[in-house]
Amino acid sequence: MSLSLLGGNMPVIRHQNRVAVLNVLLRYGPLSRTDACKITRLTPATMTNIIGELLEANLVVETGNRRTPDSGGVGRRHVMVDLNPKGAYAVGVHLGVRSVLVGLGDLKGNLVQRLKFSVRPGDDPSTVLQSIAEAVSTVIREGQIDRQRVLGVGVGCAGLVDPRLGVLKKMYHHGWHDVPVADYLESTLCLPTAVEGNRNAMAMAESTFGLGQKVDSFVLVHVHTTIGASVVIDHKVRHGGNDAAGQIGHLVLEPEGVHCPCGQRGCLDTMASHPAIVRQAMETIETHPESHLARLRNDNGGILEAEDVFKAAVQGDSAACDIVAAAGKQLGRGIGHIVRILSPELIVVVGPLFETGNLVMEPLEKAALSDTARVLGLQTRIEPTNFGSDLMLVGNVSLALLRFLYASEPEGWLEEGTRTPHRSLSNRNGKSLGTARAFI
Ligand SMILES: [Zn+2]
Repeated sequence: MSLSLLGGNMPVIRHQNRVAVLNVLLRYGPLSRTDACKITRLTPATMTNIIGELLEANLVVETGNRRTPDSGGVGRRHVMVDLNPKGAYAVGVHLGVRSVLVGLGDLKGNLVQRLKFSVRPGDDPSTVLQSIAEAVSTVIREGQIDRQRVLGVGVGCAGLVDPRLGVLKKMYHHGWHDVPVADYLESTLCLPTAVEGNRNAMAMAESTFGLGQKVDSFVLVHVHTTIGASVVIDHKVRHGGNDAAGQIGHLVLEPEGVHCPCGQRGCLDTMASHPAIVRQAMETIETHPESHLARLRNDNGGILEAEDVFKAAVQGDSAACDIVAAAGKQLGRGIGHIVRILSPELIVVVGPLFETGNLVMEPLEKAALSDTARVLGLQTRIEPTNFGSDLMLVGNVSLALLRFLYASEPEGWLEEGTRTPHRSLSNRNGKSLGTARAFI
């Protein structure tokens, strides 16, 4: 059932109005109540009530006065209100192939605590989940945050997930299937938990606090071991059928190209992902054993990583520059397809490759915004993220903030058989613990 089919009963409307005010402050704060009314079209009386509730809950603060000029030049004083970043917190968890990052973030996405531990191939998922639960408790404790002010936990996974059920469906590298991430963490921590794919969580960071904040629609393209995209339309991540939208790494660009594990040949992944870049660097080393890349590999004990190629390119090594430029061009060709299909206002590119700056961006933009795009009048900006390596954690914090505050849905909106995002939780003795959201 879509939200638009819900009747307008008072608790639902009240909830929607409160979410609207929080979002206006998130995007445009600090604001006077009058300006907030203009944007939300709520009446002054409703705004006063909602701001009053949010002040009481410590989620917003009054930040002083601003004088606005009137016709007599004297002006009226307006009390400004803004989000109180320390009013509530969320925990972000990045469940990666080799490591887990756990961070505590405030209402404005600032990370105040972080922690990292390794995951080894063959680790049992229940052992990893137990370690995650302990790490979540640790960052809350070390951040000296009252647990009642923690809205929830957002977990971004490197694998296929079912965000409605909070289940990690597949994590190929570890051979994990159907891991009930949200159920385990909720029952262990008594905190509501949301689960997403990594890329979607990163897109939520951009949408909530980053480059995507001021646009309705954008696409995030992540380049690492594989290449994939997250599509945001009207400020919402679109999962597509089977929760698998955005697999641009398997766009076929060269039908006679290198074999891809997906069964096709010449996929974008085989041209511009980290393994593809390492493969090309190794080919260069074979033909040019005197090259800088060869020396780098020898100095690293015979191992060369994509990041080494990027560093060599930034230092001016011509072979590395050629590899980076070729990857940029192929990525641009793939991104060009996104531009032609969706015509987004913005593409945010993410990954260590983009630390090479113009070496990758120039060929990428040239290929993506080709003559066809110009003839069709498609105007899309392509920009690297501003979050750097914090993007994963800010993304997972954003996931929890969105699910449990900024884009939270009223109770009972989900279809039968799916999780209620902020249902009441109980401990193992059956005693209700409420939810952190109870304070709003
Ligand atoms: Zn493929």
